[in-house]
Amino acid sequence: MPRPLTLKIAEIFASLQGEGLRQGEPSIFIRFAGCNLRCSFCDTKWAWRGGEEITLEAIMARVLDENRHFPCSWVCLTGGEPLLQPISSLIRVLKKAGFYVQIETNGTLEPTGEADWWTVSPKPPNYLLKPEFRLKAKELKLVVTRDLNLKVIEQFRTFLPLKTPIILQPQSGRRWSERKALSLIKLCRRQGLENLRLMIQLHRHLGIP
Ligand code: SF4
Repeated sequence: MPRPLTLKIAEIFASLQGEGLRQGEPSIFIRFAGCNLRCSFCDTKWAWRGGEEITLEAIMARVLDENRHFPCSWVCLTGGEPLLQPISSLIRVLKKAGFYVQIETNGTLEPTGEADWWTVSPKPPNYLLKPEFRLKAKELKLVVTRDLNLKVIEQFRTFLPLKTPIILQPQSGRRWSERKALSLIKLCRRQGLENLRLMIQLHRHLGIP
């Protein structure tokens, strides 16, 4: 008998979406273990390794359990990097159960599965982004690091349709990053770049997961 599909999961929990346009939305997070990048500013480095191999059935049982305590319409697949694992069946099962599915990805791997919302967040120093995300991304999020500059933002603004917002996200608790985000957004506007937002991490502000 074939072994049932398992996925390597770091944690499953209900909270509020803290980042991007879906900010404040009650969501159940499935955090995948493992990432193909090693960003120095990563705030989930602990999820790069380890994780628990869990069957789809067991993942759904945990999602439904979380949903009983904190009813949510959305499930967010995050990481780590969710696209390192075969997530299409999980997306199908979640949608069949009536959830909307958001995926947070660094954008370096091919998108798979019919998610309702793709959040792409290309990372320095190379800011790689698979071309398939040009039309799939509902938002593009850039962490304000020392590497981020006008040229990088300009390139993404040119690449993406104008309706897709670019979000500048300062690193929580780093004043220099917040100040840089503010300067950058003013500079971008002076250069005529449109549909940009500056958004802080709500969950960090509220002290929730
Ligand atoms: S891509 Fe995201 S999860 Fe991976 S190392 Fe960078 S910040 Fe961390």
